[in-house]
Amino acid sequence: MTQTMIGLVKAERKPGAVLKEVPIPTYGPHDVLVRVKASSICGTDVHIYKWDDWAARTVVTPNVFGHEFAGIVTAVGSEVTNVKPGDYVSGEGHVVCGMCKACRTGNAHVCANTRSFGITIPGCFAEYAVVRDSNVIHNDPNLPPHIACLQDPLGNAVQAALSGDIVGKSVAVIGVGPIGMMAIAVAKACGSGTVFAVDINSYRLEMAKAMGADVVINSAEEPMVESLMQHTGGEGVEVVLEMSGHPGAIRDALKAAAQAARVSLLGIPTEEVPFDLARDIIFKGLHIEGITGRRMFDTWYQIKGLLSRGRLNLEPLVTHHFRLDQYEEAFELMASGKCGKIVFSHDVDQAL
Ligand SMILES: [Zn+2]
Ligand SMILES: [Zn+2]
Repeated sequence: MTQTMIGLVKAERKPGAVLKEVPIPTYGPHDVLVRVKASSICGTDVHIYKWDDWAARTVVTPNVFGHEFAGIVTAVGSEVTNVKPGDYVSGEGHVVCGMCKACRTGNAHVCANTRSFGITIPGCFAEYAVVRDSNVIHNDPNLPPHIACLQDPLGNAVQAALSGDIVGKSVAVIGVGPIGMMAIAVAKACGSGTVFAVDINSYRLEMAKAMGADVVINSAEEPMVESLMQHTGGEGVEVVLEMSGHPGAIRDALKAAAQAARVSLLGIPTEEVPFDLARDIIFKGLHIEGITGRRMFDTWYQIKGLLSRGRLNLEPLVTHHFRLDQYEEAFELMASGKCGKIVFSHDVDQAL
């Protein structure tokens, strides 16, 4: 094995990234070395690439970034018993402590000591990545790498959509980026009632239809709350999945929710969001849930079940394939919003 590899590195604390030769990461006794076959760009990676305030506060440099992947195990640490070379795997990106109260009570997804693969520790936009043994997910051999690498964001969608009853209920997905689109497919696969998709991006609303949305609402052209009220006979929506993080959309999400509805909040606002707590939550008896990461590892087993036998079809979501050396074009496209998921194929020649 050569000692170096090509990786996409966030080298400096400013916009951009650089594709360069870096050492193949060393792995400890409980780590697994994975030859990456496919990876995908997350909204988080765009924040890292652009270097916004969140990135400046959070990201550790210099590091290979990227956290959504599928690949083949090439080596394992001396204490690893659950994974062997040749295994086809993906991984949970949150590396948790396992010792705190949250970890020990089934809430490891909100462990306060979390280290994040591809954000605070090295990630997967490279030929090789190191994954902790307890975070490894074994993939079905029939699941192609360009779909298997999507399981991390799919987990966000599954946790958001299935954190309460959904069968037969009206669902509004507000903000149909890739996770919103996945949530549409999950809601439909799990027997929801009418699914509404709301966004201001008409390209993405068209994709939302392909993912199974029954009604799409362009909130730049028609007022979302009135439209959702009209479509639900004035009752409001029973399950609201807020994926935009936009303060105005969050306020509207609460208004469009039916009495006693569930509102799952996944979109992350960059500022405080003022709203009328008494009117919009307390007196409506809303159930509000914050969604972060994936439940470890309940959500992953739900993903496995949903992806098996084609119950969930994510193919329409993958709109572009790039090589790692085309990263500038890929990130530009991702930032434009005129795409679904962008997947990097790592199997092709990655010469600089
Ligand atoms: Zn992600
Ligand atoms: Zn913990």
